[in-house]
Amino acid sequence: MAATSMALHLIATTGGIFVQSYSDGFRFHATCYICKNEFIVFEGTQAYDYVKRDRQGMHCCEDCKYRIELEARLQLGRRLLT
Ligand SMILES: [Zn+2]
Repeated sequence: MAATSMALHLIATTGGIFVQSYSDGFRFHATCYICKNEFIVFEGTQAYDYVKRDRQGMHCCEDCKYRIELEARLQLGRRLLT
C-alpha cells in the first residue's frame, strides 16, 4: 500500500540511471563514465534511445562524446597523413 502512495516522478533506478516523468515526456538521468557528471537525456533524442536500450552500459555526456569524436577524427587524420 505504501508503494502506491509513493507514485512520485521517480519510476525506475538501474545502476546510476534513473527515469523521471515530466509533462513533456520522460528523461533519463545518467552519470557520465568519463567526467562523472550527471547528465540528462530527453525522450525522443538519439541519446535517450541509446541509454534506454543499454541502461547498464557506459554512457557519456555530450561534451565527452564530442571530445571522443574529435579525438577519433584527429587520429584518423594523422593515420592518413603518415
Ligand atoms: Zn562527460
